[in-house]
Amino acid sequence: MLAVARAAGLLVLEDCAQAHGAQLGGQVVGTFGDVAAFSFYPTKNLGAFGDAGAVLTADRALAERVRRLRNYGQAERYHHTEKGINSRLDDLQAALLRVTLAHLEEHNEERRRLAGRYRRQLAGVGLPADGPGLRHVYHLFVIRHPDRDELRHRLAERGVGTLLHYLRPVHLQPAYAELSAGRGSLPAAERAAREVLSLPLFVGLKEEQVDTVCATLAACLKEAA
Ligand SMILES: *Cc1c(COP(=O)(O)O)cnc(C)c1O
Repeated sequence: MLAVARAAGLLVLEDCAQAHGAQLGGQVVGTFGDVAAFSFYPTKNLGAFGDAGAVLTADRALAERVRRLRNYGQAERYHHTEKGINSRLDDLQAALLRVTLAHLEEHNEERRRLAGRYRRQLAGVGLPADGPGLRHVYHLFVIRHPDRDELRHRLAERGVGTLLHYLRPVHLQPAYAELSAGRGSLPAAERAAREVLSLPLFVGLKEEQVDTVCATLAACLKEAA
């Protein structure tokens, strides 16, 4: 992927909003491309009390530009060199994030432990990619099933809540209609949008609750067969 981008003279932007601490082949995400975006939205693996985020880059000029853009495009006070926005991280959020950052690894480890429990018990559904060199942080535990909507309905009837990440791929969003030829142009993304189902996974989830979800899912699949 990086080689393709390099050959075509493209910059690579990593969306790391769900991947704080994840690694591929011993290298941490956010360090592969030219620039990476992290979200500290409250529900993320590293979350603030409100909206927050960070941009990572090793490119000094790009870093300076991002600093300007978050502060109304000001190069210095009251001197606007380009059109920017107000996207500053406020001090209280930053202070909270400094404290929670120290717990990130422990929380990621708990998510991996819960995900492992899911993996050992689930059958008959597609599981998240795993393998040597992949250090997942399981912001979500996303399974796949061709009859996703029916399965989701059956789970809800038995009291197991699930979410969809995400229901509609970017190229089918009305706001980005100009980006593609529409439906059918990105079949893998469209298939994923039809099949993905996020099972409950969060820090503090109990092992018995994972077991209940797995048993309920097995019952739903059996009923559908
Ligand atoms: C949460 C999320 C975003 C958006 O992050 P914000 O902090 O809300 O801007 C972008 N991409 C992915 C994959 C996300 O999960």
